[in-house]
Amino acid sequence: MLYSKVRDGILRILGWLGLRRRVGQYTVINCDALPEMPKQNVLYVLGDPPYEWAVGFLCPCNCGALIQLNLLPKARPCWKLKRGPNGEPSLYPSVWRKVGCKSHFFLQDGKIEWV
Ligand SMILES: [Zn+2]
Repeated sequence: MLYSKVRDGILRILGWLGLRRRVGQYTVINCDALPEMPKQNVLYVLGDPPYEWAVGFLCPCNCGALIQLNLLPKARPCWKLKRGPNGEPSLYPSVWRKVGCKSHFFLQDGKIEWV
């Protein structure tokens, strides 16, 4: 109880100071299927390296839409997933939702770059 209150307080102070660098940073989770309640800032990768075939993640604009992208080069459209030295994911090309919020962004080095 006390611990979580202290932690929340520290996180709030770090937020005020602009030091919560992990906010908005995407991490990769390899899985067989997308979870029922996907979390924000998590890139769910279906399959295991080198046989990864799709990614799924919540739209970064917080509209709640689940974005699913194909990684198989034989199917179109197809995205490429790369990982940085610390596992930070990048997706190529950009993601452009044609429906709903119409968000257009890059995921680069684990961060969202809005277009
Ligand atoms: Zn959205």
